Amino acid sequence: MQTGIGSIAYLAASVLFILSLRGLSHPSTARRGNLYGVAGMAIAIVTTLWLNGGAALPVVAVLMAIGIAGGAILARRVEMTQMPQLVAALHSFVGLAAVLVAIASYLSPAAGAEAEGVAQSVHNVEIYLGVFIGAVTFTGSIAAFLKLQGVIGGKPLLLPMRHTLNLVGVFACVALGYVFLTAPDADVGISSLLTMTAIAALIGVHLVMAIGGADMPVVVSMLNSYSGWAAAATGFMLNNDLLIVTGALVGSSGAILSYIMCRAMNRKFLAVILGGFGTATSTASKAIEGEIAPVTVDEVGSLLRDASEVVIVPGYGMAVAQAQATISEITKKLRSKGVNVRFGIHPVAGRLPGHMNVLLAEAKVPYDIVLEMDEINDDFSNTDVVLVIGANDIVNPGALEDPGSPIAGMPVLEVWKARTVVVSKRSMAAGYAGVDNPLFYKENTRMLFGDAKGSVDALLGHLGA
Ligand code: NDP
Repeated sequence: MQTGIGSIAYLAASVLFILSLRGLSHPSTARRGNLYGVAGMAIAIVTTLWLNGGAALPVVAVLMAIGIAGGAILARRVEMTQMPQLVAALHSFVGLAAVLVAIASYLSPAAGAEAEGVAQSVHNVEIYLGVFIGAVTFTGSIAAFLKLQGVIGGKPLLLPMRHTLNLVGVFACVALGYVFLTAPDADVGISSLLTMTAIAALIGVHLVMAIGGADMPVVVSMLNSYSGWAAAATGFMLNNDLLIVTGALVGSSGAILSYIMCRAMNRKFLAVILGGFGTATSTASKAIEGEIAPVTVDEVGSLLRDASEVVIVPGYGMAVAQAQATISEITKKLRSKGVNVRFGIHPVAGRLPGHMNVLLAEAKVPYDIVLEMDEINDDFSNTDVVLVIGANDIVNPGALEDPGSPIAGMPVLEVWKARTVVVSKRSMAAGYAGVDNPLFYKENTRMLFGDAKGSVDALLGHLGA
């Protein structure tokens, strides 16, 4: 009876998780999607505690209280621009949990769960896989966190014979797996398991460290996927159907996202994982020719007033400056004057998939004027003014024109085809990929130097006059 009700509750939680993912796929339904996720997780936790007869309830309650308090503080403190590193840190927790649960399950199987024969071997394979994926996810996510936080540089670490090193590591893990599965006693078993954990942890760090700055979007979504598979492996180990379903949902949605990110950057998934991209040195790039043409806010105001087609391209700098609300006001003002204003969003703009869409939705920019790169790229030649707000890599013509560029081959928003391009940024500094941008030197480009928020506030004041 209890198991039956538990299964129904788990089924309901699974459906809520699926509805949550569906809701999160569009800004207009994201809030509802979040609520579905919260409801599903609440059902999952209560059901799991109930099915276990409230075992170790005081310990669980204390740990949950600590987790809830920590989560609430983090959610309040973390800026939108720090979300990618927060996500990476959270993935590392999933990896660590998978490792710890698997090792605990090996050392101390749940009462009555001691299996024998084939069932025991299958259980041990689940433990081994859970630890392997968990350890790679744990250390890989920490390396990603440190890169995104800027604690370590975005440049790829390319050790000599790095592919061979990875292969040797994987073979060692396979060989240790054989030792683990055929171990005559628990001592041999645990020592092979722990040795493999250390090797897998090194593989995780090495894999992420070898990936160049421009490929970090794929790394974030890839680690998301790994964390799901680690959870699914834990689900098999604990015989928990809900954890299997949830892990598979996260694993496959992360894999789909990685695929989308790879396509957006015109990259092959394997090439990204093996750290081949972002490794060209900028010295091999073409020298940039042309002059910088600074512009004042008043001049930009006049350009916008005289325009009939305007495209705004936001990037990471808009998020840093928190300029989205003013940009939304400018959009309203221009539209009320009959100017057709649209937004062009690159799939890897900012530091998180969907980063710009979330900020623009938050600032109440209508969804129907926010277009994806593929939808707007052909329209730039008919555009009077493109306003690039704190974007750099995603509008770099070098990606298409310079085969020596570290981001060569990445599709970009072809803003330079417009009549005039205005770029709002503070200096001539490079973007996340660390690549110089020939756009800033083009004849039809005007540089609006200064913090994006200050610039757009002044622009709004000018347009209001
Ligand atoms: P970039 O990082 O290429 O450029 C952002 C620009 O914003 C900088 O050149 C900076 O120039 C400017 N900027 C920073 N602060 C301000 C400010 N306060 N006011 C005005 N400008 C400011 O961002 P893009 O969005 O163009 O490209 C995203 C990059 O991040 C890509 O390389 C992508 O691969 C990578 N990435 C994306 C992830 C994702 O999932 N979307 C995840 C991880 C990495 P200055 O200092 O001169 O002001």
